[in-house]
Amino acid sequence: MGIAIVTGGSRGIGAAISEKLAADGHDIVINCASSVEKAEAVAEKCRAHGVKAVVKQWDVADYEACGKALKEIKEEMGVPYILVNNAGITRDGLMVRMKEDQFDAVIRTNLKGAFNMISQCGAMMMRAKQGRIVNIASVAGIVGNPGQINYSAAKAGLIGMTKTASKELGARGITVNAVAPGFIDTDMTQGLPDAIKEGAVKQISLGRFGKPEEIAGVVAFLASDAASYVTGQVIVADGGMI
Ligand code: NDP
Repeated sequence: MGIAIVTGGSRGIGAAISEKLAADGHDIVINCASSVEKAEAVAEKCRAHGVKAVVKQWDVADYEACGKALKEIKEEMGVPYILVNNAGITRDGLMVRMKEDQFDAVIRTNLKGAFNMISQCGAMMMRAKQGRIVNIASVAGIVGNPGQINYSAAKAGLIGMTKTASKELGARGITVNAVAPGFIDTDMTQGLPDAIKEGAVKQISLGRFGKPEEIAGVVAFLASDAASYVTGQVIVADGGMI
């Protein structure tokens, strides 16, 4: 079992991924932007599975901060085997009214943040000749979503990044895949207006939002030996919405 880094592991989907990978026997690095206490609570649950779990706060949008964190992780724990690029934000608004800073913030965190991690962690994995990278995209990056031009562009970009990285890293035994969730019950969706939530549920075959654990299971599969020959793929986990 290896060392897994989960960006945005303090809440929601990232917290569920951290706990699932810990249950599967991996040591966990839980990254967050500011919710250190919540991340510590997740780390405590991970440790209950008998693995090491540490919390590290840094901004994934900051290239140098990512590099510094990766260097510390390597020195303190070893070369990461699993990287889950999960950290993400929304700054929704219709395109014609969207402010430049709303667009830039989402691209910086959701797209460039993944590049900052993949490029620098990928270099470490290449030397180790092994690794698993899983990017948390979204169905919005596949079919679009009104009010999310920034978010859907970032997530579509993340899918392209997944495919290119899988081609560049494959020869070194590293797999790179994406999971594209639909509506999952987390802080990110809790603030949506009821009308939007009700409209969304009508389009979901399973008739409900997903749970963070239902995304964590797909990530754990992609990080497991069972998925050793799967790379460059996007697995949609949306209850049959798109
Ligand atoms: P939450 O809002 O519940 O949690 C977001 C997480 O990302 C938090 O841990 C947060 O840290 C962290 N984060 C945000 N910005 C940064 C940053 N700059 N640097 C480091 N960490 C950061 O989101 P979800 O769990 O709902 O979403 C997780 C991922 O899944 C995102 O990429 C999202 O786009 C994607 N997704 C979610 C869907 C949903 O319906 N919920 C659907 C499809 C995709 P902190 O707690 O410190 O703020």
